[in-house]
Amino acid sequence: MRLFLALDLDAAARARTVEVQRRARRAPALRDVAVRWVRPENLHLTLAFLGEVDAGRAAPMARAAAEPWRHAPFRVELATADVAPPSGAPRTLWLSVSAGRAQLARLHAEARARMGPLLSAPVDPRPPGHVTLGRLRRAPRSSGGRVREAVAGLAVPAFGWRVDSVALYESRLAPGGASYRPLARAPLGCVILDAVP
Ligand code: ATP
Ligand code: MG
Repeated sequence: MRLFLALDLDAAARARTVEVQRRARRAPALRDVAVRWVRPENLHLTLAFLGEVDAGRAAPMARAAAEPWRHAPFRVELATADVAPPSGAPRTLWLSVSAGRAQLARLHAEARARMGPLLSAPVDPRPPGHVTLGRLRRAPRSSGGRVREAVAGLAVPAFGWRVDSVALYESRLAPGGASYRPLARAPLGCVILDAVP
């Protein structure tokens, strides 16, 4: 099973993201570039990609992900549409996190500590920082300049939402795009409020 932990966008942030996708689709420089746009229901902020896991390990992982997180709810904001990688053939269009990075890094560290011992490979130590809008299909290196320019020109006004839970998803890959199935969800907010000796 292919598993990952993610933060769900709320309805308003999802709608704002779909609007950015709509504008990007209409950008003249992107019209002839084949993009597989992330479907609205699949939009998410990956907290930690856990990779392929034996089915037998899914239950303990779901139990671990169903424990409340030791982190207060916080606000994440997205701004700046961007293209990855920064040079060469463009592959991914995304919105970068502009506020909430420190909290995301702390939550990511908790996710690594919690899920790491249940995995055979370590979790990527890089903290999360973007919401994927779409993936380009075989865009040539020569399209990089105009694609990056068009995406930079989208001038996305910042928007955000309050992160108050973490979900564990199973991803099923398919030619038409992946589908995600939620396996567990737990709230944020289980915090120690003062120093405990
Ligand atoms: P597809 O791969 O068909 O485009 P997808 O990327 O939506 O679909 P997955 O590859 O299962 O589906 O990925 C699930 C989530 O985990 C996505 O947010 C993806 O960006 C992220 N992810 C996938 N592979 C990695 C990886 N090696 N490192 C970090 N994040 C990853
Ligand atoms: Mg993928």
